[in-house]
Amino acid sequence: MTDARPILIVEDDAALRATLAEQIALCGEFSILEAGTLAEAGAALNAGEARCDAVLLDVGLPDGDGREFCAELRRDGKRMPVIMLTGADAERDVVRGLDAGANDYVAKPFRLDELLARVRAQLRVFDNSEDAVFTIGPYVFRPSAKLLLEPARGRKIRLTDKETNILKFLYRAAGRPVPRQVLLNEVWGYSSSVTTHTLETHIYRLRQKIEADPTRTRLLLTANGGYGLDARAGQEAAAA
Ligand code: CA
Repeated sequence: MTDARPILIVEDDAALRATLAEQIALCGEFSILEAGTLAEAGAALNAGEARCDAVLLDVGLPDGDGREFCAELRRDGKRMPVIMLTGADAERDVVRGLDAGANDYVAKPFRLDELLARVRAQLRVFDNSEDAVFTIGPYVFRPSAKLLLEPARGRKIRLTDKETNILKFLYRAAGRPVPRQVLLNEVWGYSSSVTTHTLETHIYRLRQKIEADPTRTRLLLTANGGYGLDARAGQEAAAA
């Protein structure tokens, strides 16, 4: 097995932070770094030999906003998974956190096994992301870079986080239609109150980007109250 992977917990509630640190350390997979402020978090991440594989990041911190800190990390090119610890029902926390480049979130109060499951899932994704390349129609899909490349036309399509996640999930469904609500939960999270209208808007924009003719969709299909991805569509055209 690999060595314990360092995780940084950024949380100003000292009791919560200590409990988290202790319980996460118990499972043996992770070593814990702790920060009570953004300044401490920045110092921990930028220390010379620092290695940090994932960050658990509170939203409200004494010296600033965790979401802005996350956005800053991304601007600095730091790409490790960031999981926001948000207030209960704080949908805006979640949306803004994910917009800021967080990978996932858990709402307080959360169960430790739920949190750990999220961390493991994000690390798995992250570990595979550099090499992760999928073929969707005429495109090469690089989720880590949020890019679709169309080699035949030398074209590069930039995707938003949401578009990337929608495509990833539909790709994994291997052509099976995914009900709107399932997709919504997967991409926005189970506790989100985002409506299917929002999903439809994202699908619309995604089609504008990826379909040769958005009025006659071939890749991103509407089916059975949801959406399906025909990853093989358009390949014969690209090859021709
Ligand atoms: Ca706080």
